[in-house]
Amino acid sequence: MKKFISLRNATIALLLGLGLTAFVIKDDVQLRNNAYGLAEVQVYDLRLGISETFDDGPYTFIESKKKGIERSIVAGKVEEKEIELEQVKFKPEKHTYKEVEKVAVLSDIHGQMDVFLDIIKNNGVVDTNLNWAFGTGHFVITGDIFDRGHQVTETLWFVYHLEKQAEAAGGKVHYLLGNHEYMVLHDDTRYIHDKYKQASVLFEMRYKDLFSQETIIGRWLRSKATVIKINDNLFTHGGLSKEFADRSLSLNKINKLYRKTIDLEEEALMSDTLLLAFHSRNSPIWYRGYFREELPANEIEGVLKQYGAKRIIVGHTSQTEVLKKHDGLVYAVDTSIKKGEYGELLLIEKDVFTRCKMDGERIVL
Ligand code: ZN
Repeated sequence: MKKFISLRNATIALLLGLGLTAFVIKDDVQLRNNAYGLAEVQVYDLRLGISETFDDGPYTFIESKKKGIERSIVAGKVEEKEIELEQVKFKPEKHTYKEVEKVAVLSDIHGQMDVFLDIIKNNGVVDTNLNWAFGTGHFVITGDIFDRGHQVTETLWFVYHLEKQAEAAGGKVHYLLGNHEYMVLHDDTRYIHDKYKQASVLFEMRYKDLFSQETIIGRWLRSKATVIKINDNLFTHGGLSKEFADRSLSLNKINKLYRKTIDLEEEALMSDTLLLAFHSRNSPIWYRGYFREELPANEIEGVLKQYGAKRIIVGHTSQTEVLKKHDGLVYAVDTSIKKGEYGELLLIEKDVFTRCKMDGERIVL
């Protein structure tokens, strides 16, 4: 027991030395909650390298325009190597796209890359070698790649590369940010898989710092949109509530302000009523109002009209299949991929909306 404590203290001292106070306080709460120090044992195990089968990464840190350091965990140990960088700047994503011939959309991958890949492979977004096969079509992920599952890093890099392939083919990948992206970037680690807690300890960094402005994925995430419009269709993680729409913000403004909240200190965010509305219950990333059957259709129509759209496609509220709601004003695409077993996507071609099952079977909605 004494050994545990001294190791724990050594770890805390090390983390404090790195200025990671918030991280330590959170862990300390867990430690005090447990009479036998479960969290202590976890730290102890890691320090002794017991997690020998543990791999994660890479996390690419930008040193200069051309040079970066790639940090990974290989067999439970941190490895670092210098690499050449191709791109260190990412343009903020546009909010409106017109005359797009076909759109595929799914949501809430939550670190379940295997299920995600099966869905897009069996429905022609990628080929059997996982290369872009959707031509000039657009593929939308309406948020929540992060949290819960164990394949978050792999999924992020996969989408990062798929986006480049899509663009080369005249298509496009839109990865919209969901509440779980913002939670992680705001250092809320309640839902991260244990694997990433371990990674964070091994890297001696807070999880959110693995996605800081100084990293490739961090900068890429900060270029992303939260609400976009393709043809007549709006896409966002949770939905556009009347309460939020009543603020009369343009799509451009919504995305800009969302980006601004990412690196804002908690205190600054809490004291700004406008920005706080971007992270409240009725915000685009948290709203669940469309799943109340009694929500009046004219309220949804009013918001859609305000943004020049006919429908909205959302994730966030888990279903077992792609659903058409409120007579086709709303489509729900969070099909519980998070369980790691099954999921679907929605295909939009002109005004035809098709539910695509994981095995490729299609049902027009
Ligand atoms: Zn969500």
